[in-house]
Amino acid sequence: MPSICSIAKRGAIIGLSAALAVPGLPVAAWAQPVGLPSMGSASSAELSPMLERSLGQAIMAQGRRDPTYIDDPELSQYLTTMGRKLASFAPGGVPDVEMFGVRDPEINAFAMPGGYIGVNTGLIVSSASESELAAVLAHEIGHVVQRHIARGMTQQNQNGMLMLASLAGALLAALAGGGGNLAVGVAAFGQAAAINRQLGFSRDAEREADRAGFQMLTKAGYDAQGMSQMFARLMNASRLNEGAGGGSWASTHPLSIERMSDVQNRVRGLPASRHVDSDDFWYLRAKMRVVQGRDAVSLRSAGQQLQDEVQALSGVRRSAAYYGLALQAFQRNNQAEAERNLNLAAADGRNSSQMAKLGVDIALARKEYPKALELSQAAVKRWPDQRALGIAYAQALQSVGRHTDAQEYLRAKIKQWGNDEPSLYQMLAQSEERNGKPVEARRDLARFYVMTGAFAAAESQLQQARGMSTDFYEQSQIDVQIKEVKDKLAEERQLLERFKSG
Ligand SMILES: [Zn+2]
Repeated sequence: MPSICSIAKRGAIIGLSAALAVPGLPVAAWAQPVGLPSMGSASSAELSPMLERSLGQAIMAQGRRDPTYIDDPELSQYLTTMGRKLASFAPGGVPDVEMFGVRDPEINAFAMPGGYIGVNTGLIVSSASESELAAVLAHEIGHVVQRHIARGMTQQNQNGMLMLASLAGALLAALAGGGGNLAVGVAAFGQAAAINRQLGFSRDAEREADRAGFQMLTKAGYDAQGMSQMFARLMNASRLNEGAGGGSWASTHPLSIERMSDVQNRVRGLPASRHVDSDDFWYLRAKMRVVQGRDAVSLRSAGQQLQDEVQALSGVRRSAAYYGLALQAFQRNNQAEAERNLNLAAADGRNSSQMAKLGVDIALARKEYPKALELSQAAVKRWPDQRALGIAYAQALQSVGRHTDAQEYLRAKIKQWGNDEPSLYQMLAQSEERNGKPVEARRDLARFYVMTGAFAAAESQLQQARGMSTDFYEQSQIDVQIKEVKDKLAEERQLLERFKSG
């Protein structure tokens, strides 16, 4: 939609045709806003980092129901690990960041309030190296560090505020519907990304984010060239996509000759470095090629691309392409072909945690439960830090009916990973239910809902648990939990009301 495209508002954009300019929008519209209505009680002065985080959580709670949200522990662990590594080198304090994947072929990433950063599959698939991907994430974290999103949402422009008000209204409607309103969920990320587009970022903001991002990128050991290579790729992509839409990264973060030469100058000032891409990057990139395909045509072209790579490439990239083909066959429920390609991926003794996970998934799909258990047990030994494998192992334990072992294992993993992996609570609840512990099951399911921001669903689980419990001490504990959840729900409602009436 060109009307929400902010490219035309700033000069010095290269490679973009005049067709993208919005008629009637003066070029100087980005100058200091004058006489805008105030945001009322939700003015930027009052949008503390804590409120910003709550707003981000409210958007995420709905976004998680969005069909474009990629609920994939392998991907979110990879992206968040990369993001936190970069953020640990942020100038002036380490921001809290959480990355997630979005199923969208547009080359884009977007930061939301509270340090939540969405990364499109299109960006991952088109990155030619891990450093290129890290460069875009580092730039986004640069905006988070400088609090550009919160400031922009509340200060900078009237349309942005109106869109934020409409998003807040939609989130409130979803809350009123018990949080289960899928139609609203569908729009959450789209609206959040559209607000970013509407705001755009000022030239000063872009310069700050580039500077901070470059520093994070190089200190974290990535290849500094990754940033200039990625910028060149993005400029090229926006040229090719002329008029195709405002969803690409370059439309939110306008690329200019000035930005480009700033980055090139910084690269020149550094000794040459060589970052070796992790195997994880190549396997997850192949996976995202498959995950991204939503219809028969795009799935076919993903398959063709992987076939071409199998022919043209060698080493880890060839193995990753075979893994992608295996994953695609698995999705089509063709387990024989999936296994054949997975074996080809393992040629020359290659192996990866993603391949091991797919091996377990194939065994589970074939109902070969003891095999799934054996494979997952070996995999968690070899890759003890991979959360997706821990989940696969717990699933395998459940598949053979070993719910007591599953419970014990999940509790240990919750201690280790609980904050980053809410689904562990969901699985724990399943095993508790099977073990005849319905009260514990509901309380743990409530924890899962609290962690994913679904407070109304959490309250309903707790009320059920309260009704089932016969133990006085336990009942009073649950009462405390219910009050906490109700308070959180009320706070969220209040926060959204403020933005809605802004
Ligand atoms: Zn930017």
